[in-house]
Amino acid sequence: MLAIEVCEIKEKCPVHKRSSKMERILVTGGGGFIGSHLARYLYLQGNFVRVVDIKFDNYIQEKHCSEKLQLDLRIWKDCLTATNGMDKVYNLAANMGGIGFITSVGAEVMHDNVLINTYMLEASRQNNVKRFLFSSSACVYPTYRQRNPHVNGLKEEDACPADPDNFYGWEKLFTEKMCAAYQRDYGMDIRIVRYHNVYGPEGTYEGGREKSPAALCRKVAEAHNPGTITVWGDGKQTRSYCYIDDAIRGTVMLMESDCDKPINIGSDRLVTVDELADMIIKISGKTITKKYDLSAPQGVRGRNADVSLAREILGWEPRISLEKGLAKTYKWIETQCRKDKEMRLPLLESCKSNHRLT
Ligand code: NAD
Repeated sequence: MLAIEVCEIKEKCPVHKRSSKMERILVTGGGGFIGSHLARYLYLQGNFVRVVDIKFDNYIQEKHCSEKLQLDLRIWKDCLTATNGMDKVYNLAANMGGIGFITSVGAEVMHDNVLINTYMLEASRQNNVKRFLFSSSACVYPTYRQRNPHVNGLKEEDACPADPDNFYGWEKLFTEKMCAAYQRDYGMDIRIVRYHNVYGPEGTYEGGREKSPAALCRKVAEAHNPGTITVWGDGKQTRSYCYIDDAIRGTVMLMESDCDKPINIGSDRLVTVDELADMIIKISGKTITKKYDLSAPQGVRGRNADVSLAREILGWEPRISLEKGLAKTYKWIETQCRKDKEMRLPLLESCKSNHRLT
């Protein structure tokens, strides 16, 4: 499936005009959500695209890239192999997940991501990569700026004095600083994108690593009609959500720009999680009531993105409304849930008949 609306992007994206120049590009984490969309887009532009991941879930197929390598980027030699002969590196590989995952797993997240980012930066330097992009996160922003639901949008300079809410955010901030050190000491050409809640088709929607839009879409898709879903927290916590096509366009525009400082790519439309759930329920056409789990993790109380720097420097802003993006996301997740159910049915049947035989 191709989520990028290439024609829409062609009109305004300055990157597209440069697409006649074929480059050798590495996308790490290319088997994941943002990475697979990005790799397909760059490949469609005529580049040689190598995707690397520790595992592939079939979202990125051979026809959507030039090369697909299964490597573990916590291993130094694998990072040297991945970066060998590349002009540009989009480093998206990370051990990560939604709020449920990153509030419960700390050591593994920090250990894996420090290794991936340290080795990927150094391997890119040794292999003379011309430009390197690091995928940072809104989780770098301090807790004291996100204590109430009616927050101001977070500006890039708000990251310090530092006090991220979780270990994942601290690791991202550490790697941002390491990028700054590589820029200063080695003159490496580096871009840093701070993503704020990117959602869309082909994102993780089950298994404990899913984020709020995907989790709510799955809950609604699996609910009976009429039925009930559980919302984490009291639903009054706020967030902003950026559709995948907008995020990819912003990422490529940043990579092609001269901006060597961290920059937010996200949406500045603040909604409560309750409002998000209501939008998804409306899209589904089902009659669903909401229950609240106050003991579930909910992260900071309010978080919004200020994207004025991206507007000013890149000429980028999100274009796809939350309603439109959620409609596409819900449709994809609903289809996946139906397929998952169809696959589980014969298994259930055979379990039942085995049980009858014994
Ligand atoms: P994702 O989990 O879908 O993709 C990350 C990919 O990295 C996965 O496919 C995973 O298998 C791979 N990976 C993990 N460990 C690896 C290893 N040792 N070697 C090789 N590959 C490995 O996540 P995503 O949403 O596509 O996020 C991409 C990047 O953007 C990540 O760095 C993430 O921290 C950052 N980010 C994403 C969001 C968001 O809303 N999706 C927000 C902020 C930051």
